[in-house]
Amino acid sequence: MAGYVGCAVAHSRATRSEAIPTRPPLRGGHPGRMESATAHPTYPSGKATQNDVLITPEATVQERARLVIIGAGIVGCSAAYHLTRLGWRDIVVLDQGPLFETGGSTSHAPGGVFQTNFSPMMTRFAQYTVELYSGLELDGQSCFYGVGGMEVAATPQRWEDLKRKAGVAKSWGLEAALLSPQEAQDLNPLLNPDTIEGAYYVPTDGIARPVQAAQLMAEEARAKGAVFHGRTTVEDIEISQGQVRAVVTDQGRIETEQVLLCVGIWGPRIGRLAGVAVPLVPVQHLYTRSAPVPALAGETRQVVHPVLRHQDSSMYFRQHADCYGIGSYRHEPLVVEPQSLPSYRPGAGQPAIMPFTPEHFAEAHAAAVQLMPALDGIDLSYKINGLFSFTPDGMPLMGPAPEVAGFWLAEAVWITHAGGVGKTIAEWMVEGVPSMDLREADINRFAPHARTTEYARVRGAQQYREVYDIIHPRQPLQQPRPLRLSPFHPRLEALDAVFFESAGWERPQWFGSNEALPEIGEVPVRQGWAARFWSPVQGAEHLATRRRGALCDLSPLTKIEVAGSGALAFLQRLAANQIDRPVGRVVYTPLLDQQGGIRADLTIVRLEEDRFWVLTGGVTGPRDMAWLKTWAPTDGSVQIRDISAQYCCAGLWGPQARQVLQEVCEADLAGADFPYFGARRIEVDSVPVLALRLSYIGEAGWELYAPAEYGLALWDALWDAGRVYSIIALGSGAFDSLRLEKGYRLWGTDIHGDYNPLEAGLERTVRLDKDDFVGRQALLGAKEAGIKKRLCCMTLDRPDAVLLGKEPILGGDETLGYVTSADCGYSVGRFIAYGYLPLAWAAPGTKIEIEYFGERYKATVAAEPLFDPPGKRLKS
Ligand code: FAD
Repeated sequence: MAGYVGCAVAHSRATRSEAIPTRPPLRGGHPGRMESATAHPTYPSGKATQNDVLITPEATVQERARLVIIGAGIVGCSAAYHLTRLGWRDIVVLDQGPLFETGGSTSHAPGGVFQTNFSPMMTRFAQYTVELYSGLELDGQSCFYGVGGMEVAATPQRWEDLKRKAGVAKSWGLEAALLSPQEAQDLNPLLNPDTIEGAYYVPTDGIARPVQAAQLMAEEARAKGAVFHGRTTVEDIEISQGQVRAVVTDQGRIETEQVLLCVGIWGPRIGRLAGVAVPLVPVQHLYTRSAPVPALAGETRQVVHPVLRHQDSSMYFRQHADCYGIGSYRHEPLVVEPQSLPSYRPGAGQPAIMPFTPEHFAEAHAAAVQLMPALDGIDLSYKINGLFSFTPDGMPLMGPAPEVAGFWLAEAVWITHAGGVGKTIAEWMVEGVPSMDLREADINRFAPHARTTEYARVRGAQQYREVYDIIHPRQPLQQPRPLRLSPFHPRLEALDAVFFESAGWERPQWFGSNEALPEIGEVPVRQGWAARFWSPVQGAEHLATRRRGALCDLSPLTKIEVAGSGALAFLQRLAANQIDRPVGRVVYTPLLDQQGGIRADLTIVRLEEDRFWVLTGGVTGPRDMAWLKTWAPTDGSVQIRDISAQYCCAGLWGPQARQVLQEVCEADLAGADFPYFGARRIEVDSVPVLALRLSYIGEAGWELYAPAEYGLALWDALWDAGRVYSIIALGSGAFDSLRLEKGYRLWGTDIHGDYNPLEAGLERTVRLDKDDFVGRQALLGAKEAGIKKRLCCMTLDRPDAVLLGKEPILGGDETLGYVTSADCGYSVGRFIAYGYLPLAWAAPGTKIEIEYFGERYKATVAAEPLFDPPGKRLKS
């Protein structure tokens, strides 16, 4: 399994000398080409460059290939490099521009690499990329200047946030430090220390030489059998029966069953040729370089100062010998229509550069001078509006497109992450599963609306605006909203729901109507950062649910019907648990990937001998659907349909749930007739309902599914009956604390592909003794080898302390892991954190510490679940 620790080991195995051999200088190498390219942003002629000749001796493109990679920027070259390292040959890489200053974004990037990201995936991509580029040498010069990276704080809020950042750096195993203004100035003498509160410093950050890195990776891929063609434009992609068949270029047609799209900002345009939606927008980004700065007179080394971020002004800086580069996001997003992008044409200028707009740079320029007074009065000798990609959630787009078989993507990737993206997309294509969980980058993560052009435009622009903003982990998306409304929505609104957005759905976080609940006085007070986007009402809803009961909108759940003569065998092959149960039974099961990682976590209901419902989260649904389709037999024996929109769902749970339901239902709801994990068709007033006796919050009750058009009738029947028993409407905030108190794992945070069920404490959901299923062999191997870490429950010793997740867990000076979930256990009176700990630290009673904004909180490993360990309430 490729857990965090596992991945670190894998990376460290890929040492510079072993995995990334140092190469002899290339013939005709071009040290410093990036600098010269940025100084002359128009190609002088259409003649082939020396590199074209070096890399493309073939006169015409070949007629057939195993794989065609479109785009020879940093991403296409990284993918080719890693694919050939994994043994693939017969790969053709095409680019419309000359190799390797193709005129794409890579040709214009100053190459700043800041590894820290609140996403562990992005940090791991960057960590690997630094290792990779550091080992690439051209003419004796590395493709990475390891000068460090510094982020200054000009406001107290930023300074606080940098402490949070230092925490996640620890969580992800990245060395970082907080510096005083003076220490920051010691590293960069041009800084005015009076303008900053301090700085965050990562010594292994630095500056890449992207064009050179791309060229070197291409050269190695070429040595292993890949062929590169510059000045070859893809004009069409032939598809038949939903499968890629050929790539048509202006130099000829290449028959192939596989395409990997690495065209950056051109993604939506080329995607459209194949009918694949690529949700990104090109946005203009301003980058300038100063004339020589007197304070740096005589400096001939390209970079000495750490790459620098001044995020309170949405800017960054890098040294170019005696000049300074300044990049700015401090302007309204200048989005470019992807379909209107020019192709590369000799002599026509750089297609990924737009004319510089000084009006968008004035504010940034002033801020630059304030931070670095030495820049005052210095001209800007080089100025561009360069284009690069922004996606709806700021993450890359990777994996197989859902629309067309054989069409893969590695899009919207920064120089910073291109090494890690190239490595993992290659693993995914060659081995069927990447060595780390890519849920945040998977092209299949999007709900349908999120792949529309307008959504990509609006959200992409917002990502540009927010690129350096301080974002609270619970901060709700502002627009476009509302998009998806549950059939219960009018009732939720009437109860003063405070909505947040999830996969396009409007979901109540808590209800204003619950402000007067008697329990509110029992809820611990929160302040500051922890109190943002939170309300004590959440705590009151939690307690009221445990004491009386609650009605909850679960309509956003994804509902997938799997039917046909082969349905049982198919689900048995995918699920780790035993699915061959009688009709009317429900099974909770993980689906594993080939490495034994938890690919999905869901509930399967057997409705008939050969008809099942697969129930999963609203956010995870599209990925789970894609996984089912990947493995589905092609002989017509299994039909898979997303029926989510056809059904609404209400959760009714708590001590009074049975009485409430019995008020409006004639069927006998007593235990023997309706056992725990049973499924029955019942009538709720006049509404036909499929009732599942289960709950994710640890209370007895039901998930009640009805055709969507009956939504209001269902809600009203249950709500009216429940009033007598004082049940409440339950929001997602309280739902989360209820599930955590009961020890239920949340897929995407507590469990995902980086962990196997043994590490996650889900052994009871796996039947290793049933017939073979996906991931079984790997899990048997993991069991035999013995696990090294385990998901643990911890409680904070201090009653008033609060965490939000991702904080480092410490044992003395050692980082043991990080917090995967955190919330208040309002019923048990403790603040709860979950996280993976090495086995030596996993025993209940073990003392550890958790760091929050630089402060260490004492905590204790606890036996789980904290609430109702025998599960009596669930089964009552
Ligand atoms: P590209 O480099 O654009 O490569 C895509 C290739 O596809 C191009 O070469 C293009 O010619 C080719 N292509 C397109 N259409 C066709 C077709 N029809 N047929 C054949 N070929 C085609 N990132 C960082 O990490 N750090 C930074 O400091 C940084 N600063 C930046 C500053 C600026 C001004 C800009 C513009 C970008 C910056 N970036 C930075 C972002 C980074 O440059 C990009 O995200 C990255 O280069 C994208 O690489 P790519 O290979 O996906 O795309």
